Amino acid sequence: GGHLRFDNVHFSYDPEREILKGISFDVPPGKTLAIVGPSGAGKSTISRLIFRFYEPASGAITIDGQNIDAVTQQSLRAAIGMVPQDTVLFNDTIGYNIRYGRADATDAEVHEAARLAQIDHFIESVPGGYGAQVGERGLKLSGGEKQRVAIARTILKAPPILVLDEATSALDSFTEGEIQDALDRVSKGRTTLVIAHRLSTVVNADEILVLDHGRIVERGSHAALLIHN
Ligand code: ADP
Ligand code: ADP
Repeated sequence: GGHLRFDNVHFSYDPEREILKGISFDVPPGKTLAIVGPSGAGKSTISRLIFRFYEPASGAITIDGQNIDAVTQQSLRAAIGMVPQDTVLFNDTIGYNIRYGRADATDAEVHEAARLAQIDHFIESVPGGYGAQVGERGLKLSGGEKQRVAIARTILKAPPILVLDEATSALDSFTEGEIQDALDRVSKGRTTLVIAHRLSTVVNADEILVLDHGRIVERGSHAALLIHN
C-alpha cells in the first residue's frame, strides 16, 4: 500500500484568495516526491490537507485509490507518519516518547528504533521541557536530538506513507547531514512526501515539484531541474 494521489486539488482558507490552484501528483508505493518552492507557495497547506486538517474545495486526495474523506481519522493516522519541524516531547523518558502511538512495541523494538535514529544512549533520560532546568534525570535536548526522537517514533510506527516537513531546516549543517542519513533510512521503501525549501536537500527524490503561488510551475528529476535553473 501507500499509493498517494492528488487529483486537481483546489483549496482556499478564505473565499477571496485561492491558495492551491489545481494540484495533481502521483506518488506510487515506495517512491519519494519532493515539493520545493518559496515561502508562502502552499507547501505546508498540501501536508495539512493530507492529514485532513482542511478539506479541498474541489478535486480528490486518495490513498490506494480511496478518497481520504471516506477514511476514519484513526486509520489515516495509522497510514501516515509525520516528522515535523519541531517536536514537542512528553515529560517522560525518551523511550516512552519513542513508544508513543505504539504501546504494544517490545523493548527490543524500541531500542532498535532508537539505535537507527542514533539516540539509544539516552533512552532512559527524561527531556527537560521548554525552558526547564536540567534536573537529576533531566536532559536538555537540541533541535536535532528532538528530531531524532520523532524519527525513532516514526521508525517504530512504520507507516506506509511518510510526510517530512522541512525536516532539516532548523539545524546546523553537520547535524543536518546526520539527520538526513537517519531520514533516508526511515523513508527507504516507504512512500515519502518531502516538503523542502531547497533543491539541495532532495537530490534523491524520484520526482520534484516546484510550487509557486499555489501552482506547479515545474516538475522533474533533480538533474532535470538543475539544467533548467
Ligand atoms: P509554504 O508552506 O509554502 O510556506 P503555506 O502553505 O504555509 O506555504 O501558506 C500558503 C499561503 O496560505 C500563504 O499565503 C499563507 O499566508 C496562507 N495561509 C497559511 N495558513 C493560513 C491560514 N490558516 N489562514 C489563512 N491563510 C493561510
Ligand atoms: P499534536 O496535538 O501535537 O498534533 P498529535 O497526537 O495530534 O499531537 O500528533 C502526534 C504526532 O503525529 C505529531 O508529531 C504530529 O505532527 C503527528 N500528526 C498529527 N496529525 C497526524 C495525523 N493525522 N496522522 C499522523 N500523524 C499526525
